[in-house]
Amino acid sequence: MGSLPTEDVLDALIVGAGFAGVYQLKRLREEGYKVKLVDSASDYGGVWYWNRYPGAGVDSTVPHYEFSDPTLWKEWTWSQRFPGSAEIREYFAFVAQKWDLRRDTEFSTHIASAKWHEPSLTWVIKSSCGKEYRSRFFLLNTGFAARRYIPDWKGIDSFQGTFVHPSYWPKEEPDLRGKKVAVIGNGSTGVQIAQELSQVAEEFVLFQRTPNTALPQKQINFKDNEHERVPKETYPAIYAGRTTSFGGFDFNFLPRNTFSDTPEQRQQVYETLWQHGDFRFHLGNYQDLMFSAEANEEAYAFWRDKVRARIHDPALKELLAPQKNLYHFGCKRIPLEINYFEMFNQPNVSLVDVNATPIERLTPRGIQTTEKEWEFDYIVCATGYDSFTGGLKQIDIEGAGGADHTLAGKWKAGTKTYLGMSVSGFPNMFFTYGPQAPTALCNGPTCAESQGEFLVSMMNHLAREGRGRIEAGEEGEAKWGDDVRKFAYSSLLPGTKSWYMGDNIPGKPREPLIYLGGVPNYYNSLKECAEQGYAGFAIS
Ligand code: NAP
Repeated sequence: MGSLPTEDVLDALIVGAGFAGVYQLKRLREEGYKVKLVDSASDYGGVWYWNRYPGAGVDSTVPHYEFSDPTLWKEWTWSQRFPGSAEIREYFAFVAQKWDLRRDTEFSTHIASAKWHEPSLTWVIKSSCGKEYRSRFFLLNTGFAARRYIPDWKGIDSFQGTFVHPSYWPKEEPDLRGKKVAVIGNGSTGVQIAQELSQVAEEFVLFQRTPNTALPQKQINFKDNEHERVPKETYPAIYAGRTTSFGGFDFNFLPRNTFSDTPEQRQQVYETLWQHGDFRFHLGNYQDLMFSAEANEEAYAFWRDKVRARIHDPALKELLAPQKNLYHFGCKRIPLEINYFEMFNQPNVSLVDVNATPIERLTPRGIQTTEKEWEFDYIVCATGYDSFTGGLKQIDIEGAGGADHTLAGKWKAGTKTYLGMSVSGFPNMFFTYGPQAPTALCNGPTCAESQGEFLVSMMNHLAREGRGRIEAGEEGEAKWGDDVRKFAYSSLLPGTKSWYMGDNIPGKPREPLIYLGGVPNYYNSLKECAEQGYAGFAIS
């Protein structure tokens, strides 16, 4: 291992130019650290750089889904309540210019490996092109959806049309008029893309494995509804309040149980939440929604009846919104939709239930199910990601102790973290928006700022104390794992198959991958840890 002149050693190499990475670059530079941001993409945006498929957009409302820095929001104006992916990329370009990020960013740089070098207390980090970085801190902001998942169906390569994962959507929009198009998967991505492609394709088929309890989005175009904008003078209070809301918004679960209201009151509550749109019918519902099966069924019944009323065909009603819920409402990620259910009333749209007729293989002409061969020009494989851990494990990370101590090895049988940000045996390495943190239940900017501020304070603490090494202790890690499991197993979450539990990836250990205590509890854990001199970490 060659030694670089000390002036070439970074204080932090930040990987990932989405909300979290960009925030850290700004804040750490402000504090006087020498930092660099790298990303495999060719511009800022993180998931929004990659996800440019038709209909791609965020399910969180603005102004919650943006940075709280007044120099940004005082100037920036969104066109919609739920901005689309292209507008979010424009926002990132604006942020990059306001925060002068480009001078310390390197794009088209894919980090392939990192090794901890104990004598120099630095990480030796290599890109797939062989470029080497030395850095005291290794800050991974690769997000929870950095590793795509495509099932290993036989014959994918034989398909003669276009087979595409939505996160690799071509920059030049394909013309789907007169084409036969399939979307496999109906998660947040599948729902968004299906709504768009079904309007242009001649024939459109959605392959569904599990019905999706999508909620009405209630988009607002501000151009025609200027009065519906959240007034900017209220922004500071909203940002200050994000850490007191379960999902990082400005609302919370109702502080009472489902059956403490009369049936009439309950219908009224559900209706109000429904009419509001966004995640309110999920994260603003009765507090026992995710904990009591009976309460959960009651909310499901309301959802089911609303949705069934929008679908004409009785068989489709049952497939899309079954009379009896097949899993607990809210325990799989709920997307927001606009015309998803009406779409199935169109004559050019079909639904294939892959439970009844599983996909056997792809053929040169399309998809062979146990029933028949479906012919397509385009197959969109919206089958998701190896969420939370996949993006981190795909980097060859070797911690203290050498080649036998890799991150993938340590997590083989199950994920271990302290505070959902660090791992024992991997000094000075931190990650955000990953496993065992609120992550996918909390909007990105809220997490980026909370976790980012924790990192800034931690590095300042070490600098003040004249220390160069911080590592999660095994005890802190074990206790955090217990907390994550305690929250999860007191809820209905583990009773449902989902990527929150690692179920979507064959062979992945089944475990709660998300911290279900909500943003306020998580934020307090970070705060207490810092106030107690970074309790649970070993500092040397
Ligand atoms: P996902 O939620 O994992 O959905 C994957 C879909 O593919 C599911 O419907 C799944 O069915 C299906 N599937 C997987 N393997 C299959 C197989 N072998 N055969 C048939 N179907 C199969 O992935 P995603 O939709 O890409 O979303 C991932 C996450 O990214 C979201 O939950 C969200 O957090 C984020 N996202 C956010 C937005 C937004 O904010 N608007 C948009 C897109 C994505 P099962 O349900 O049966 O597993």
